[in-house]
Amino acid sequence: MPKLPRRKCLECREWFIPQYSNVVWCTPECGAAIALKRRDKEKQQAIARLEKKRKKELVEQKDKLKARRLAVKPLSYFAKLAQAEFNAYIRERDAGLPCISCDRYHDGQHHAGHYRTVGSNPELRFDEDNCHRQCAPCNNHFSGNIGGYTPNLISKIGQARFDALMGPHEAKRYRREDFERIRDEYRAKRKALIASREVAA
Ligand SMILES: [Zn+2]
Ligand SMILES: [Zn+2]
Repeated sequence: MPKLPRRKCLECREWFIPQYSNVVWCTPECGAAIALKRRDKEKQQAIARLEKKRKKELVEQKDKLKARRLAVKPLSYFAKLAQAEFNAYIRERDAGLPCISCDRYHDGQHHAGHYRTVGSNPELRFDEDNCHRQCAPCNNHFSGNIGGYTPNLISKIGQARFDALMGPHEAKRYRREDFERIRDEYRAKRKALIASREVAA
């Protein structure tokens, strides 16, 4: 058998003449040490794979739980989220304007006040002509202070749009997807408005 060229032992880095071409260790001791290290590495890799799988399952389970939690939420839950985003947009749109009902400027809290109430006119709950920045006292204590709201609204949106607002409206049936879409749309709309104002400023 021809003599193989010398090589460095993978374990102790000493030169040796291998008996066979696939031998990478000089002594059985070095061979055992290398085998042990390889087994350790495989074990670590197996553990890492399991860990990764477990994490993935955890995420999947969380997603499933979240979906299930949302699935049992009543429609009103999604209506509230959509209304909150719509109202936030209205407050942002009207930032700097006085209260639609009493014309006052003040630092107190302001709401998005519906002219035609959500309770009696649910089909107008996301109508931008129907909702304007209103101070908390007018919104909470004077039932929207409608006496002041009406003339101010007409001068703000014009008689034609006011008439359209007062005119007949088709009933709307919102599904969960509708509320989610409205929520997302108005969140995006408010962010875009803020961004455009920052650019202008
Ligand atoms: Zn060695
Ligand atoms: Zn007011």
